[in-house]
Amino acid sequence: MRTPSRMLVADEPLACVVCRGDLFTRRSITLTTAGFANTGFNKEVDAVTCGRCGYIHQFVVGCVLEVPPEE
Ligand SMILES: [Zn+2]
Repeated sequence: MRTPSRMLVADEPLACVVCRGDLFTRRSITLTTAGFANTGFNKEVDAVTCGRCGYIHQFVVGCVLEVPPEE
């Protein structure tokens, strides 16, 4: 499992809307739009999961910047 890291959205540090946690894991997922399966109308989104409570935040791809862990 990947180590959770901090995320930036619009230059602001992302805080979980549920628990205010600041560590997340990110992965890209495809949202299947009803009636448009496999036609190119499906949306790619970044799913950013809170490392503390598990709440999943969804963003348009490219909006979330992962902050590299400090050495
Ligand atoms: Zn949370």
